Amino acid sequence: MKFKALKGIQDILPPETSGWQRIEAAAREIFKTYGFREIRLPVIESTEIFLRSIGETTDIVEKEMYTFTDKADRSVTLRPEGTAPFVRAFVEHHLFNEPPPQKFYYMGPMFRYERPQAGRQRQFHQIGVEALGVEDPKIDAEIISLLLLLLEKIGIKDAQCEVTSIGCVQCRPAFRAALKDFFKDRLGLFCDDCKRRYELNPLRILDCKVEACINGRQGAPSVIDFLCGDCTEHFNGVQYYLKLLSVPYTVNPGLVRGLDYYMRTAFEIKNYSLGAQNAVAAGGRYNGLVEEFGGPKIPGIGFAIGVERIVTLLTGLSDGHEGPDVFLCSLSSEAGEKTAVLAGQLRLEGLWVEISYDKSSLRSQMRRADRLRAKNVIVVGEDEMKSQTAVIKNMQDKTEISAALDAGEILRIIRGSK
Ligand SMILES: [Zn+2]
Ligand SMILES: [Zn+2]
Repeated sequence: MKFKALKGIQDILPPETSGWQRIEAAAREIFKTYGFREIRLPVIESTEIFLRSIGETTDIVEKEMYTFTDKADRSVTLRPEGTAPFVRAFVEHHLFNEPPPQKFYYMGPMFRYERPQAGRQRQFHQIGVEALGVEDPKIDAEIISLLLLLLEKIGIKDAQCEVTSIGCVQCRPAFRAALKDFFKDRLGLFCDDCKRRYELNPLRILDCKVEACINGRQGAPSVIDFLCGDCTEHFNGVQYYLKLLSVPYTVNPGLVRGLDYYMRTAFEIKNYSLGAQNAVAAGGRYNGLVEEFGGPKIPGIGFAIGVERIVTLLTGLSDGHEGPDVFLCSLSSEAGEKTAVLAGQLRLEGLWVEISYDKSSLRSQMRRADRLRAKNVIVVGEDEMKSQTAVIKNMQDKTEISAALDAGEILRIIRGSK
């Protein structure tokens, strides 16, 4: 019988994992300088959390959730995104009692039951940040500039930042009405999904990826023209600080959030080599969500990066795994024991050490050292055991140095020759 991973759920193998490590390390490093701390959240939550937060008329809830009942007949869901579980934990553990802004980051797998295609998997990974407790547009700009700095650090070129305001509960109804008015006479042009969205959530027609719908919405009213005074002021503030922080951006009023709890600032980072539809990161402000989950009235803003998409943009990925620092060959069982002990001591010092596990010939051990691209080789046979010295062969510059069979001395020579 042959087993295979589930459809749309991928193994991540070396050398690609080195790209993942690079991204994660850069994220941790930068998040720390901005005062974000890691929060580790479960991948499974009660379904109610997502129905509440994401909204029942979104694609995610309508068709993409991995929902099932557990043995106690509870409806549970593999998280399709990170913000809702985060806010659940934020409220559950009263993290709002810490002085604002409360800043957290998370990384890990998310699950959506989509048709697998290039760049879209059913299990995918996100790195996200959430900052709560501050309404001031200065933090919106700071979060966006943090995101761009991170992408730059990872080595992503041509990251285009698009920003808009999507308004608030005060100003969205008028925009919604204007949109419905605009779409009313041309609804025939749109896909079936959009015809349904027209009744339930017409804003989402602006987000449809179907070409007929992209063409059909040319000339639709812009959300910017419907912003209330407070939203306008806030959006002006965001742009003021983006300029102050030298963040290049364009305003794209077409950005729509599939998630109902977003309001005001919305932003996406696109890289057009992935195609215009593919954002590598997206985020926005979600005032009201903490309250929805039973917490106090606290505003929040965050973003999530699609790690798979970032990885596809990284070029020239090497494993970072160049070859062991030392390969210890052994030619007798006594020598085999000695090399096992030495290997342990050297690994404790941070060297990558390989040994031989069988009684194979020196030639075959050397062949293995070669294939692994070992930087140094030490052969331990009967003579070396007697004299307790051995030769360290540097495989790169072909020099040879005699050394005592002692971890300290071997370490000194290898570190010196690096
Ligand atoms: Zn408003
Ligand atoms: Zn459509």
